Amino acid sequence: MTQPRLGFTRPDNFTPWAGVDPLADDPAQRLTYFLGAHRPPWISQAPVPVFLSLAPVVRYQGRDDAWPLLSPVGAGNGPMVYAIDSGAFTALDSGNPDHPWHLGEDSYAELVQRVIFHTRVTPMFVAAQDRPCEPELLAKTGRDVRRNIFETVENFCYLSENHPDEPWLPTLQGWTPDDYVMCAEVYEQYGVDLGKYRNVGLGSVCRRGAEQTANVIEVVKTLAPLRLNLHGFGMSIDALRVCAPYLTSADSTAWSLAARRRQLRLDGCEHVGDCRNCLSWALAWRETVFDAIRAGDPAQPPVELARMAAADVERLRRELAAAERLAALYPVPAPAPVAPVVPMPAPRPAEQLALAI
Ligand SMILES: [Zn+2]
Repeated sequence: MTQPRLGFTRPDNFTPWAGVDPLADDPAQRLTYFLGAHRPPWISQAPVPVFLSLAPVVRYQGRDDAWPLLSPVGAGNGPMVYAIDSGAFTALDSGNPDHPWHLGEDSYAELVQRVIFHTRVTPMFVAAQDRPCEPELLAKTGRDVRRNIFETVENFCYLSENHPDEPWLPTLQGWTPDDYVMCAEVYEQYGVDLGKYRNVGLGSVCRRGAEQTANVIEVVKTLAPLRLNLHGFGMSIDALRVCAPYLTSADSTAWSLAARRRQLRLDGCEHVGDCRNCLSWALAWRETVFDAIRAGDPAQPPVELARMAAADVERLRRELAAAERLAALYPVPAPAPVAPVVPMPAPRPAEQLALAI
C-alpha cells in the first residue's frame, strides 16, 4: 500500500488524546501538549492537539478561498484541537520581512480570522505578536527587555480590544524571574487580569539550551504561586520533566529539528527524505516527552500544586516586593484629573412641596 504523500500513518502505541484532567492518574494527561506543525493539514490529520505556525499559512493569501488548511487524508482521526503560534523568534531571528509576525496588528488579526474561517474550528488560543527576550535576539534587534515587555502587553491589549472575537493569548516575556514578574505587573497595570485566562504564554523559554534549563525551572517556579494557566512555549524535555506539574499546556517542534539534524528516518516510512515533516515520528517524539513527564524530576519529585504554592508563600512575598520595586521604577502615568462634582443645591420649600405632590 502506498503511503499518502504527507506520510500520515497512525501508530498504535501513542498516548491517545482524551482531553485534559488535572487529577488524571497519568501526569502526561494533566496538561495539553501540542505537537508543533509546519503542515497546516495536520489540524485535521493528527490524532492529537496541534500547534500551528502561521508562517506556512501566509503563503495561501493569494489563493482566494482555496486554503488547504484541512485535508481529507486522515481526516476524522483527530480531535481538531489546535492553537496558533505567531513564530515571533523565527520572524525576528531570520529578519524575513514576509513572516506574518511582521504584519500590522489588524492584518495579523485578519489572517487569524481566515484560518478560523477555513478550519471552522476556533483554536484553543492564538499567540499575539509578542516580543521575545533572548539575549542574542536583543543584540540583533537593538531592543531591551523592558521595551519588549511593554510592547508585548500593548500588542495584546490592542488585539483584544479591536478584535475581541479571537482567543488572544497573553504572553509573559522576559529573561530573569524578575523580568517575568515585572511583565505580569505590567499586564495588571494595563487592566489585564491574567488569572482569568485559560492559557498564559511563557515566552523566551524555548531556545535556552541545556545550560539554561535550571533558569527556566526557576522562572516557572517563581511564577507558580500566581496560579496562572501557563503555556510553556517550546520547552525542552529536560525542563518539562520538572515543570510539567506547573503548566496547563506546552508545545514543541523539536521533533522536526531532531529528525533534520540526525537525518532520522523511521523504519516503514515511505515519504521522501528524513522524518522532519513526518507525523509518525512526531507522535513517537511525543511519547518520549510524555515518558519524561511521567518520570518527573528524580532530584525533586513533583508535588501537588497547592502544597507547592503553600510552601512558596515566602517566595511569593519576595516576588511581590520585587514587583512593587519595579512598579516604582516604571510608574504608570497618573490618570487625567476628574472634574470635581458640583453638589446640587438644596431644594427650596416650594419645590419640596411640588415633589411631594
Ligand atoms: Zn517518517
